Amino acid sequence: MYPEYMQESIKNVERTRPARLKLAKSGKQLFPRMSAEERDVVLNKFHPDYKTNARREIRIGPNKGERITTKVAELLETYSRINPADFDLSHPDYETDVLVIGAGSAGFSASILASENGADVILVTKLRVGDSNSMMAQGGIQAAVRPDDSPVLHYLDVIGGGHFDNKPELVNALVSDAPDAIKWLQDMGVMFDRNPDGTMFTKSGGGTCRPRMHSARDYTGAAICRTLRDEVYNRPDKIKILEHQPAVELIKDSDGRVAGAVLYHLENKEYFTVKAKATILSTGGFGRLHIQGFETTNHYGATADGLVMGYRAGANLLYMDSVQYHPTGAVYPLQIMGFLCTEKLRGMGAQPVNKNGELFVYPLEPRDIEASSFIRECTERGNGIKTPSGNVGIWLDTPLIEQINGEGAIKENLPAMLRQFGRFDVDITKEPMLVYPTLHYQNGGIEINDHCETKLPGLYVAGEASGGVHGRNRLMGNSQLDLIVFGRRAGKYATEYAKGAKLGKLNLDHVYEYEKEVEKFGIDRKNISPMVLPDYIPEAVKKRQYTAHYEGTLR
Ligand SMILES: Cc1cc2nc3c(=O)[nH]c(=O)nc-3n(C[C@H](O)[C@H](O)[C@H](O)COP(=O)(O)OP(=O)(O)OC[C@H]3O[C@@H](n4cnc5c(N)ncnc54)[C@H](O)[C@@H]3O)c2cc1C
Repeated sequence: MYPEYMQESIKNVERTRPARLKLAKSGKQLFPRMSAEERDVVLNKFHPDYKTNARREIRIGPNKGERITTKVAELLETYSRINPADFDLSHPDYETDVLVIGAGSAGFSASILASENGADVILVTKLRVGDSNSMMAQGGIQAAVRPDDSPVLHYLDVIGGGHFDNKPELVNALVSDAPDAIKWLQDMGVMFDRNPDGTMFTKSGGGTCRPRMHSARDYTGAAICRTLRDEVYNRPDKIKILEHQPAVELIKDSDGRVAGAVLYHLENKEYFTVKAKATILSTGGFGRLHIQGFETTNHYGATADGLVMGYRAGANLLYMDSVQYHPTGAVYPLQIMGFLCTEKLRGMGAQPVNKNGELFVYPLEPRDIEASSFIRECTERGNGIKTPSGNVGIWLDTPLIEQINGEGAIKENLPAMLRQFGRFDVDITKEPMLVYPTLHYQNGGIEINDHCETKLPGLYVAGEASGGVHGRNRLMGNSQLDLIVFGRRAGKYATEYAKGAKLGKLNLDHVYEYEKEVEKFGIDRKNISPMVLPDYIPEAVKKRQYTAHYEGTLR
């Protein structure tokens, strides 16, 4: 239920809705798409990445001297959580062919393919199996399967959306494998939405020239991730699962190969070591870093651990100057601040409008452009709607979805959105949503090639932890696709590598070497990483904790 003063602004939305509906139904363009020059202007002035202090030079490691996102640079210029001297690596606790770190859809796909290709796999994860961004994905997965579409068109969209910074070999792999990835998922049991005639139901996403988004209502991620998880559970003889055991450091061998990882058991607080012929990082992204104070759509474990471990071991990072803010995160009600309002809403006709009920941007610009336009509308133009908690947002006119697609269209296609807002007495079939950009996706990551290899032998990366596929801006639906395409490739190629790999003496020397660099800059010893879990304890509370003689907070 919106407070009365916000309802005044909703009246403006209702007043302008009939004309906007007429325009939408006419098939004419709703709002002029921005030219390349206009896009540059709005990005440079309003995108958070372009703010002063958004980026700074990293002083340590393989990307030394590059300007990257400040918060990421701070996270990387840190000490390890472990003292390598404490570990006897001649007696590892576990041994396997392939170690997969992270149990989202990338990790699941990698584990399935590795086991199918004959490897013994250990899959370790920080929280419960499936606690991941993969499970939370809503809108869909892209693949060019319609007669009027092609991988070539898909390729051009991905490259254009990524500002032509994508690694072409990775985009080629992404779009070429896409139709088969959908088939693979369907064969395993994922139920994608279909039209009454049985053909695949597809919608447009921002920055795409064809409707190629496949969905399972608005819980596509759960439909895919649960199916993959079950497939992993079905292979207990080949895939051993270790839950609540985040990896905190990679292990290398005397020849510089990556050869497993150190795990930290969150329940009994003990460390364990895994020796592996090949290691796949599928640890996901960094939403929980709350870069520049933004709310996030991401799950609790999205703390960039893979980046830290890979970087400390010597892997390159790519495009770590670029962060994706999804244009439509909830700003009201307060309880769901940052919660994702899927792009499918706009794909099905919802329009972003300001406090006067005016459309101010083409609804399906690429995400960075759309998000920057929202910020401009709320800041420079002062046309946002303030919430009782002092935040600001713009309206996403969702009742249009029903008026364009017929009564019941939201319940049918967006049931999770309907339920989520319904819990707070906001009926999105009749009232708009209030939204603002929210930290959503790590555009860059550890550099890979189309075999998911990094520059470190034995280390493979797949999914959001990798960099290069999406350039500096990912388009909707291409992440769910990249998890499957590169997860499968990582599993296959890591297994091929593992079959011929002979490991030397295990060590953690890279940790000492990295820490020597950190020390040079006088960085406080308290700065350690990986973060593992986000820290939401206010400083004042921490001070009280440190004066207490037992663990906990004095009130
Ligand atoms: C709300 C939401 C909606 C989205 N909707 C879409 C969509 O519709 N379409 C689309 O294409 N993309 C979407 N995305 C993006 C996409 O879902 C993610 O980019 C993708 O799921 C990432 O998959 P992943 O397997 O790389 O990482 P995740 O799915 O995040 O999995 C990472 C796993 O690694 C574990 N982990 C982390 N650190 C460690 C560690 N140190 N040791 C061991 N394990 C660790 C985590 O606990 C987790 O299990 C959405 C994202 C969100 C958050």
